[in-house]
Amino acid sequence: MQCIYCGTCCRNGPPGLHLEDAVLYSHGVLDKSLLLTLRRGEPVWDNVAGRVVTLPQEMVRLKSDPASGACILLQGENHCRIYERRPAQCRALKCWDTGDLERIYSQNRAGRLDLVPPDSALAEIIGEHERRCFLPDVQEIVRQLREEAGSGAAADSIGSVLYRDRWFRDYLRDHAGAGEDVLHFVLGAPLEDILQRMGIVPEATDDGLRLREMRPVS
Ligand code: SF4
Repeated sequence: MQCIYCGTCCRNGPPGLHLEDAVLYSHGVLDKSLLLTLRRGEPVWDNVAGRVVTLPQEMVRLKSDPASGACILLQGENHCRIYERRPAQCRALKCWDTGDLERIYSQNRAGRLDLVPPDSALAEIIGEHERRCFLPDVQEIVRQLREEAGSGAAADSIGSVLYRDRWFRDYLRDHAGAGEDVLHFVLGAPLEDILQRMGIVPEATDDGLRLREMRPVS
């Protein structure tokens, strides 16, 4: 069999990047506005496992078209805007035989610091944001929060991390003109969104911050 360029795999979702794709970023084929970051410790839907999993390591992937869910670089029915320089996963995937893709899928995944220049201001900001808003720590605070039944130090700790995450976003917006499309790559999803995926809704009240537990969907 051979590829008939039907575009089906591109409509099923965008690829994650591997170390060999770093050159696409450094050569400007892929820019920040086309990418998003899923951070270590973030709950994400795993198509293969069919459930939500906590990411053991950071991933960068192409964004999806919000309306169709297809890869953002798919034009029309089946035209890839960067076909000659498409990422490793796209080159490995043959929809009639997923063996090559499965072999590379979890190998040498690229994170943000594999893409941006190591001595750049951007690398420094990414590293500092990770240190100050480290998601495995947030997971642990959420666990403590549940043990405390919503009161006490754990709620204060979440409030502090939320404040820091917002500070980084505001700083990049106000001082570097970064839009939301770029922030999703540089800092990942806002912490409010990630907390909601952990089942916690932060709500501002006159007395400060209230954390509401989301009821599981039955
Ligand atoms: S990068 Fe190109 S080949 Fe890969 S999923 Fe997107 S549109 Fe398809």
